[in-house]
Amino acid sequence: MATTTTKREQLYEQIRKHGEDLLRIFPQATEQDPVKLCKKLRRMETEGERQAVAYCNGDHDMERHETLTDQLLARVNKLLGNTREYQPKTGAKCGCKQGLVRDNCPTCEGTGQVVDFRAIRTAPPTVPVFINSDPRGHALKIRDEWVRDAQVLCRDGRTVYVGTKLEEWIHRHHSYSVVHALKHEGFTIKSVSIHRDWGGYGIIAPDLTENS
Ligand SMILES: [Zn+2]
Repeated sequence: MATTTTKREQLYEQIRKHGEDLLRIFPQATEQDPVKLCKKLRRMETEGERQAVAYCNGDHDMERHETLTDQLLARVNKLLGNTREYQPKTGAKCGCKQGLVRDNCPTCEGTGQVVDFRAIRTAPPTVPVFINSDPRGHALKIRDEWVRDAQVLCRDGRTVYVGTKLEEWIHRHHSYSVVHALKHEGFTIKSVSIHRDWGGYGIIAPDLTENS
């Protein structure tokens, strides 16, 4: 009996750690509870694996398959907060007149609300998440070269940037050198910690019960 409890506790601990790894990479995730996040992603993983098997068996054609995987990927990215707003607004109303002038207004792009172009320029890049359609592997993956090269920049224990252009980011936002930022500004750099498969791809929703 005692052994069973320990095993279950170990599994829970593994899931929690994986969830925390994910939240470091995806600090904007709409689910901030690490265990709940893993459970939601596991359901999406299972859905992706089922789609891959169905496609492999010829149950649906390539066009249908692409539609299904696009829809699933959009849901995964939304949950992970791995999206970039197309037209972020500053909150100010635009001074242009409604009608033809507004339709062609470069300041609000026809919305009547001033578009925040600075936010568009400085928005953090999104993480290259994709759906793998090979039924032998995991469905929800992160590109291997990104997993290898990306770094996590933290300040006061919070992720402020994740990606492969860390130096550029520091210069753009704080105009410090990386050395200065690390020494005097309270920044720390970590490499990406995430479950990986044999090919070096990041695995978003591994079946952690397999290990125990
Ligand atoms: Zn306008």
